Amino acid sequence: MAKIQAIRGMNDILPEQTPVWQFVEGKIRKVLSGYGYREIRMPIVEQTDLFKRSIGEVTDIVEKEMYTFDDRNGDSLTLRPEGTAGCVRAAEEHGLLFNQTQRLWYTGPMFRHERPQKGRYRQFHQIGVECFGMSGPDIDAELLILTGRLWKELGLEPHTRLEINSIGTAAARGSYRDALVNYLSDFQDQLDADSQRRLESNPLRILDSKSPDTQAILVDAPKLDDYLDEESVDHFSRLRALLDAAGIQYTVNPRLVRGLDYYGKTVFEWITDSLGSQGTVCAGGRYDGLVEQLGGKPTVAVGFAMGLERLILLLETLDLVPAHVNNDADVYVTAMGDRAVSAALSLSESLRSGLPGAVVVSHCGGGSFKSQMKKADRSGARYAVILGDNEIDSGTVGLKPLRSDEAQQELPLAELASTLNTLLGA
Ligand code: ATP
Ligand code: MG
Repeated sequence: MAKIQAIRGMNDILPEQTPVWQFVEGKIRKVLSGYGYREIRMPIVEQTDLFKRSIGEVTDIVEKEMYTFDDRNGDSLTLRPEGTAGCVRAAEEHGLLFNQTQRLWYTGPMFRHERPQKGRYRQFHQIGVECFGMSGPDIDAELLILTGRLWKELGLEPHTRLEINSIGTAAARGSYRDALVNYLSDFQDQLDADSQRRLESNPLRILDSKSPDTQAILVDAPKLDDYLDEESVDHFSRLRALLDAAGIQYTVNPRLVRGLDYYGKTVFEWITDSLGSQGTVCAGGRYDGLVEQLGGKPTVAVGFAMGLERLILLLETLDLVPAHVNNDADVYVTAMGDRAVSAALSLSESLRSGLPGAVVVSHCGGGSFKSQMKKADRSGARYAVILGDNEIDSGTVGLKPLRSDEAQQELPLAELASTLNTLLGA
């Protein structure tokens, strides 16, 4: 029978890889909790309308990337393509937005039916951060300071750059949209296919077209900047001042727009040049209108999401994963003979109590001494403990260094934990 395989674009993350994931997730958790952000966990499936009403009917995501299906009751459900909509729904549903501010984060898989390629998958993972109830540019700045700290922690600071822009209020974008469409109509035939389609549906997205021909046409196009409302201009200039004061480097990219309809005012992307065209590792912005649009009281908000696959790919590409990030054991306890099997299990337990934080693997499954030592070596352990019936009779154990030429030693059972403590600590 043909074997069943994983779905295209959806990856297994194997045991060799999970330490890197845990390392990155751990760093992010630590940074976020250091700023007082609290974790929220939402379902992976939501009502389809939630995404249509938030992300926007004519965005790429809603038009062609969502995994939508009818469940057994005939309700239209969708695997979440991003986390903001669900986070807003949950926060509103449970009264988290009533008369208070919130700094929230979440992580988990997202689903988009895109063409799989390096850095672009159909199931991918994001860490998302959403802040509610704070209208000033200070919280926008905090998000960027926080991500800047994370890049430092991961050694990525020299490899990421920040682009920011202001896309103003919906009204400002509306008048700009008309001006842009008016200008681009004269060049309709020369635009790339995607941009021709967007001219009707979502003309602002044409600004970040990857086509050089389209970009050439855009050189003389009206500038969004000239259409911005006063409040957005003021918000943006105060944000820039805060970033300058905080020592955060950025460039203003007047063509930066985001693919989701709910953004307004501040938008930003952290980009790397080390991953080819899938170079955006973190993206976000302000979405002051979304809560109300989804039926809540008007509540200002700002947030971002970072793609974990891209972050990890970047760390690996740049060889920035620290050597200690692995699944290696510290101690491997072998057991030769029936009495030794039971003794090895209890010896391993006492080592785990006596060596907090150490990885102690107890050999299971029998086999010859040679094959047990082979497994000990493969476990990555620095020391093998040798325990057989002879050792049990004499109340001793053998301790064999696996990563150096030091000789094996025999020592009293009672001294093993303290000896290993010294050796592993050194
Ligand atoms: P892109 O322009 O690369 O398609 P996007 O604008 O669709 O990104 P967002 O919806 O803002 O991306 O998601 C935030 C981040 O999530 C992206 O910057 C990226 O790091 C990651 N991401 C988005 N889509 C994918 C995907 N299909 N596979 C892997 N990571 C993704
Ligand atoms: Mg996309």
